Amino acid sequence: MSDLSDLASDSVVYKTLLESTLAIPWKIDWATMQFAYIGPQIETLLGWSQQSWLSVDDWATRMHPEDRESVVSFCVAQSQAGVDHEADYRALTKDNGYVWIRDVVHVARNDRGEVESLIGFMFDITERKKTEEKLLALQKELEALSFKDGLTNIANRRRFNTSLEREWQSARSKGQPLSILMFDIDYFKQYNDFYGHVRGDQCLTDVAQTLSLALDGPRDLVARFGGEEFVVLLPDTDATVAHNVAERCQRLIQKQAIAHTHSPFDQRLTVSIGVGTTIPCDGMEPFAFIDAVDRQLYVAKDKGRNRIETVQVAV
Ligand code: GH3
Ligand code: MG
Ligand code: MG
Repeated sequence: MSDLSDLASDSVVYKTLLESTLAIPWKIDWATMQFAYIGPQIETLLGWSQQSWLSVDDWATRMHPEDRESVVSFCVAQSQAGVDHEADYRALTKDNGYVWIRDVVHVARNDRGEVESLIGFMFDITERKKTEEKLLALQKELEALSFKDGLTNIANRRRFNTSLEREWQSARSKGQPLSILMFDIDYFKQYNDFYGHVRGDQCLTDVAQTLSLALDGPRDLVARFGGEEFVVLLPDTDATVAHNVAERCQRLIQKQAIAHTHSPFDQRLTVSIGVGTTIPCDGMEPFAFIDAVDRQLYVAKDKGRNRIETVQVAV
């Protein structure tokens, strides 16, 4: 049986091992920037023959243009600094496709400590990249879903809170007014009791769609606040405009004419609306503003429903 030193001296064994792996070995001479060696597997992977890899230029030009500049300058800088490194990039195939490569590079030095050559392995990571891309797309999809109300498909409360936080900061720094409308469907318990939960769900979806149609500002947002309550966020909007938007919402719902046998308002479904406008300032919290608007909503209920009540929250 041969020991390790026999094996080390046996370059045929090494060559066989290197050229039978999936990883593609290569060596570049630092002084000339020429390939001293590249494994024959490169031809199987990319289609370019083993002999066609002459210098680092062949490596750089056979790289996706979007990756080239950053990868080449990163690898050159790391090599000059004598630091082992790795880089991912898309390598051009002979039939004009691309393969994702992870290049793992070791900087080899001579006895005097000077960089002599770069020795590395190229790994085909295309499948891994595809999986990563799928995961990323899934993650984005999940994130979008986590901000959506499952029933009505409009934004949920979580999304509303995030947007309010952002718009609150923006309004405070710009000294701009910000308005909120809070909606609650009138006599909705009776609606459910009479028409059933499924029709009740459909009604919530219809109201959500109508409110979405009533908004036209690029940053306006309608969200389901909970149950049969909705909220509209109107950035950069003063009290007059906010009141107009509330009226437009009320009008559109009226126009939709959803039958509600137990409603005293022409047997049609109606909403009560609380409207609030403020210019956020230091020490003032968004939830206190929401509370103030919510109180207006309850005033609207107390005063008989199907109406709009407005508050200007002092700064
Ligand atoms: P008010 O005029 O004072 O607002 O009375 P209301 O009956 O609308 O209000 P209340 O808060 O008493 O009841 C709200 C009802 O909304 C209770 C519940 O059955 C219904 N609801 C809440 N969420 C949903 C939902 O997701 N689907 C359906 N179908 N109904 C819901
Ligand atoms: Mg309610
Ligand atoms: Mg209600």
